Amino acid sequence: MTTLTGETFESVDPATGAVVGTHPVHTADQVEAAVAAARDAADWWASLGFAGRAERLARWRAALARRMPELCRVITAETGKPAGDAQLELVLAIEHLAWAAKHARKELGPQRRAPGMLLANQVASVEYHPLGVVGVIGPWNYPVYTPLGSISYALAAGNAVVFKPSEYTPGVGRWLADAFAEAVPEHPVLQLVTGFGATGAALTTAGVDKIAFTGSAATGKKVMASAAETLTPVVIEAGGKDPLLVDADADLEAAADATVWGAFSNAGQTCAGVERVYVHERVYDAFVDKVVDKARKVEAGEHYGPMTMPSQVDVVRKHIDDALARGGRALVGGNGAVGERFVRPTVLVDVPEDCSAVREETFGPTVTIAKVADMDEAIEKANDSPYGLGSTVFSKSRGMELARRLRTGQTAINAPLSFAGIASLPFGGSGESGFGRIHGPEGLREFARPKSIARQRFTAPIALTSFARSKRTEAIVGKLIAKLHGKR
Ligand code: NAD
Repeated sequence: MTTLTGETFESVDPATGAVVGTHPVHTADQVEAAVAAARDAADWWASLGFAGRAERLARWRAALARRMPELCRVITAETGKPAGDAQLELVLAIEHLAWAAKHARKELGPQRRAPGMLLANQVASVEYHPLGVVGVIGPWNYPVYTPLGSISYALAAGNAVVFKPSEYTPGVGRWLADAFAEAVPEHPVLQLVTGFGATGAALTTAGVDKIAFTGSAATGKKVMASAAETLTPVVIEAGGKDPLLVDADADLEAAADATVWGAFSNAGQTCAGVERVYVHERVYDAFVDKVVDKARKVEAGEHYGPMTMPSQVDVVRKHIDDALARGGRALVGGNGAVGERFVRPTVLVDVPEDCSAVREETFGPTVTIAKVADMDEAIEKANDSPYGLGSTVFSKSRGMELARRLRTGQTAINAPLSFAGIASLPFGGSGESGFGRIHGPEGLREFARPKSIARQRFTAPIALTSFARSKRTEAIVGKLIAKLHGKR
């Protein structure tokens, strides 16, 4: 939570309202100056090559791992999340950083490609060069894991980064940038700019080579429109309304556990958190009983923290009220669950599919559970959403089949959110959830420019690209291609 005070703003502990830090509101001029400084740093960083960068990224990684408790305290102070959850996001971020640094050469270094028969005299290769300066705009819900999903991969690919953290978590951003500067003191390869939306907007027009945005779909659209003015490419990681499917043969205990964790951990403020559940009618009653039993044991303030952003409390209340007014029932929680800072777990059933609680991102500790006649209906309802980020399937026999039919960027089978911890897997969405990919080889390439090179090894017997080309050559090539490709 933040308060504007002139040229600086305060970050606030959302659980207590106490001020925990003061940070500058960077102006458009200051953002431009940061990007200009990053341009020089980018040349140096790129010149280090994969090994030089990996060594320096390992220093930063080691500092993050050694000083975990210190950074966790900053995360908890600004988001209100429990220390264990702060550590979990940090652990995953460190794994991703290690993977990106280790695999950058293999994924981005020179790779041979087949030149094809007509140009068999050529050696063809592709390699992935850094873009230059990447602007990263981050959210507050996972203030380390989420921005590092872009920052680690952009740095490993050889770019300098200017990072604008959320106005709710500037202290976490400051900590990360300071730790990087200690590990890599030579040049400002990772810089921080702080402030509100205007500072983020300034970054989109400050001359960066790409913007990696993570936040709401509404802001993502503004970022894309602004970046379009200079044809600056963007990767948009936006929100979700992630479904979880429970098949008739599912392990109900595990499915209920995943539902409760996926929906309520981090107070439901997880882009790929579970918001809707579709359950086969044969196991619906047994599954709901298990979820209710587990949800009753989850305590706001103990198992998860407060709502980090005060305005989200109203959204959660509206979604619950709408669901109840339209015939839904709260088996756990309900409108009384929404407090001033904390929201208790809420399990909703019998909610019409066109309610805001089913259609829009709630981003709170609530979940809707609906009965379906079969898994075809579950797939149809799950896919009937403007979002397409993550999904989960619980099924013993049809996990892969159902996962493939879900129109989301990633699906976890028989475990909650497992894809987010596997560094080699790309992560991203479609529709209102955005586009482009972070993490994995695709995440490295998102921050690189493919460079194709064709090197001639010897003069071709058949010269096609010369005015010296003869009619005879043309006839030979015509016949050859007709013979090769003319058959069906
Ligand atoms: P938000 O869109 O309000 O803000 C995100 C960032 O954009 C902040 O740093 C903000 O200052 C900045 N910003 C605001 N206006 C801007 C503008 N006009 N130009 C440029 N930058 C601007 O989102 P939030 O509330 O911080 O984060 C929550 C959202 O993020 C949820 O929708 C959640 O699902 C999503 N999210 C997505 C992922 C993912 O990987 N897909 C991960 C985490 C969170």
